[in-house]
Amino acid sequence: MIALSLAEIAEVVGGQTHDIPDPSVRVTGPVVRDSREVEPGSLFVAFVGERVDGHDYAAAVVEAGAAAVLASRPVGVPAIVVADVQAALGALARHVVRALGTTLVALTGSAGKTSTKDLIAQVLRRKAPTVFTPGSLNNEIGLPLTALSATEETRFLVLEMGARGIGHIRYLTGLTPPKVGLVLNVGTAHIGEFGGREQIAQAKGELVEALPPASEGGIAILNADDPLVRAMASRTKAKVVLFGESGEADVRAENVRLTDAGRPAFRLHTPSGASDVTMRLYGEHHVSNALAAAAVAHELGMSAEEIATALSEAGSLSRWRMEVTERPDGVTVVNDAYNANPESMRAALRALAAMGQGRRTWAVLGKMAELGDESLAEHDAVGRLAVRLNVGKLVAVGGREASWLQLGAYNEGSWGEESVHVSDAQAAIDLLRSQLRPGDVVLVKASRSVGLESVAQALLDGG
Ligand code: ATP
Ligand code: MG
Repeated sequence: MIALSLAEIAEVVGGQTHDIPDPSVRVTGPVVRDSREVEPGSLFVAFVGERVDGHDYAAAVVEAGAAAVLASRPVGVPAIVVADVQAALGALARHVVRALGTTLVALTGSAGKTSTKDLIAQVLRRKAPTVFTPGSLNNEIGLPLTALSATEETRFLVLEMGARGIGHIRYLTGLTPPKVGLVLNVGTAHIGEFGGREQIAQAKGELVEALPPASEGGIAILNADDPLVRAMASRTKAKVVLFGESGEADVRAENVRLTDAGRPAFRLHTPSGASDVTMRLYGEHHVSNALAAAAVAHELGMSAEEIATALSEAGSLSRWRMEVTERPDGVTVVNDAYNANPESMRAALRALAAMGQGRRTWAVLGKMAELGDESLAEHDAVGRLAVRLNVGKLVAVGGREASWLQLGAYNEGSWGEESVHVSDAQAAIDLLRSQLRPGDVVLVKASRSVGLESVAQALLDGG
């Protein structure tokens, strides 16, 4: 953050200073909400949570060197007191982003936000210092805190915005207003909470509605391959840039294929040239994510060659997303247990098939959550695809949905030992431990709630 004085901060957030002997003291450390992260010169933000009240830590954080506390009541130590800490944090973030002249890029979508955010950050930081949200910190607290971690050097700020319902993204863009807004896709994630795809599109489109007009530099980056996203072009005054495999896309991929190693490769076309990409990331769903990142980077002044090189070298910065680990005995474990939806299940199975040429392949799969009425058909389709791709063995883990996966495999002609249904992660671990052989490739994937990373972990820890 820029070193603002406590008096300046109080003015920016419209707060009252309390117990501050010297208002010209500057905040020189990070702005944090967790008392354990306080450093000398920090501003500590006191939130009242369900179990803990940040105000209870006020004395301790000042003892640890914090310059002051941003609080909703006086706390007996230096504090800037405001009516609404959340709103004050947003106001401070906006002020700092404006003062630094940082270009703020925000992205949303049903699937791939974190993967794409990590890709964008890895591409942009080749051009200039870039700050981005760690992991999936994509809510009303994480976003302004990330924005506040920008410094004088920071040119680009990349923020993931998750939508929990109508109005939520609008609120987030109010806290940290983007100049570049990217919408990846409108899938079925959280469809239960929203009530349908149209509602999801409605909620995600709030991102492009919030952008400044093209005349002021606003840029909306939209997925040409997703009709509900493509249609958001009519909801923005910003310049519209399309990415995708469709011919009308400004930034597109040609000759998309999977290499023998299971990595996506393609020729990247941007309005300023073309260049070849072979990704380090696995799974063809990353082609769409890579094109989205390329469109952002192109608009921010990078050449096709620079972008292609960066995309080819980009790794995964977040855990459990197609994490490929080779065991000493030659068993390859592909941990994609972070989450699952029908698109990414198919992409992961195809990557497994490509990696497994001449090797025994295992797909350890659990349920895809929140699919509503489509659940049975989608699980059935994934089970069938595993058989069609010649996956050696399907291990379906869990309850009803797992039985649908197995049923799909059965219906596609796999009624022997090639597909099994086990009740939980431990049963899967036991089965794999007794049957894995050197050289096998194992994919582990399910929705977040299933927690299948324990299977991948057990295979890597205990053999
Ligand atoms: P969350 O809402 O949990 O923050 P997210 O949108 O940030 O999720 P990621 O964490 O990038 O998404 O990826 C979650 C899972 O979605 C990954 O494990 C991957 O399987 C899948 N995924 C990633 N990109 C895509 C894509 N473009 N289309 C479909 N699925 C994808
Ligand atoms: Mg995420």
